[in-house]
Amino acid sequence: MEGEKRPAPYEGLFADGHLVLWTLCSVLLPVFITFWCSLQRSRRQLHRRDIFRKSKHGWRDTDLFSHPTYCCVCAQHILQGAFCDCCGLRVDEGCLKKADKRFHCKEIMLKNDSKALDAMHHHWIRGNVPLCSYCVVCKQQCGSQPKLCDYRCIWCQKTVHDECMRNSLKNEQCDFGEFRNLIIPPSYLTSINQMRKDKKTDYAMLASKLGKQWTPLIILANSRSGTNMGEGLLGEFRILLNPVQVFDVTKTPPVKALQLCTLLPYYSARVLVCGGDGTVGWVLDAVDEMKIKEFTMNNYFSVGPDALMALNFHAHREKAPSLFSSRILNKAVYLFYGTKDCLVQECKDLNKKVELELDGERVELPNLEGIIVLNIGYWGGGCRLWEGMGDETYPLARHDDGLLEVVGVYGSFHCAQIQVKLANPFRIGQAHTVRLILKCSMMPMQVDGEPWAQGPCTVTITHKTHALMLYFSGEQTDDDISSTSDPEDTKETE
Ligand SMILES: [Zn+2]
Ligand SMILES: [Zn+2]
Ligand SMILES: [Zn+2]
Ligand SMILES: [Zn+2]
Repeated sequence: MEGEKRPAPYEGLFADGHLVLWTLCSVLLPVFITFWCSLQRSRRQLHRRDIFRKSKHGWRDTDLFSHPTYCCVCAQHILQGAFCDCCGLRVDEGCLKKADKRFHCKEIMLKNDSKALDAMHHHWIRGNVPLCSYCVVCKQQCGSQPKLCDYRCIWCQKTVHDECMRNSLKNEQCDFGEFRNLIIPPSYLTSINQMRKDKKTDYAMLASKLGKQWTPLIILANSRSGTNMGEGLLGEFRILLNPVQVFDVTKTPPVKALQLCTLLPYYSARVLVCGGDGTVGWVLDAVDEMKIKEFTMNNYFSVGPDALMALNFHAHREKAPSLFSSRILNKAVYLFYGTKDCLVQECKDLNKKVELELDGERVELPNLEGIIVLNIGYWGGGCRLWEGMGDETYPLARHDDGLLEVVGVYGSFHCAQIQVKLANPFRIGQAHTVRLILKCSMMPMQVDGEPWAQGPCTVTITHKTHALMLYFSGEQTDDDISSTSDPEDTKETE
């Protein structure tokens, strides 16, 4: 009897063991499955992030597409997945990698191929055309069928039916459509790049190809303003324009973004700010910072060969200061930079690149390379520039009459000749206010021996008490010497 009773505790233990096992299973298994799923999901997410990061497309995730959407790879109807906010491709998660490899995004700059520069073809992508778009061929509505169908050019936004698509359309030149006057064409940037390599900066000539109406638009939007509506807005603009001209100010500060203006012809660019008051203020500050540079000039201002000499000299002195401790050596080196400039010829045809106004009157310039504005009679190591050789009659130069003397030089050799009194400068005139408009290209400038490279700008020189004030407006590209202040408190007070 007793023997029969003994196994009972073991049995109970055995049954307990079962219970524990089952309990463990029923608790652990779901935990394990959940853990496994989340691990897989995070791995997939990492993988997707990796594709996003390396991709040339501007991929973004969405949990729900707002329109009926079909995957550009497998053509299935999809509810969620990724879309490119530059070219508008839409894809499900599984096809993302394929889509990324198979389709090109908007090329913000063309590959350096001279043939491609003049004629850019449409860039067609298939499917998901916007609602209410019409075929360029048959004028009927596009994208009305519930499947992946019809084409849209990602530059000009033209749409065409599958059955209306033909080779002639594929080889047709893209005219950038409705917004052609606002878009910076990829070919423009390629040409600019080439010009920079060739050390040419005549952007106006390049822009003239695009016509007088061309006023490229720069978008500065804050993705964080307006309950994150900025993000969507940025995408819309990237789709309609060249993505290069659309900036999220939280990622690229306005001062940096506005540097794009320096690649555009003078007075051509327009800036659209999307955001709250704070964003607008931020951008306006950046514009001020770029536009108004103010200097006090005591002796002279110049643009052209002597400023270039000073600039080259300055750059090399910064590199090897010990070399420049001797005065005689300094003069020799300076002279060397003068002659080097003859080779560089960066200041050629200055008269075509600038407009000069003396007391509000436009002055026609002969073929000059440099302009010098003097407050005192002396320039370049004690030479009386205005008088020149002293063999001609000229209005008297005095530094207390409030008049500025403006002279032109024909080149660095002419500069040197004037310095040793072997030539006369070209006397342009005397004035109270001198305005110099640099229309295009980079020019060497200097104020009282402080040189810098200056992009398109307007320089206004007027008297302020007994010092001269220079106002720079336009695109400053070189952040050299400067002290910025409010334009209001620098009125002419002579
Ligand atoms: Zn797919
Ligand atoms: Zn894309
Ligand atoms: Zn097109
Ligand atoms: Zn059609």
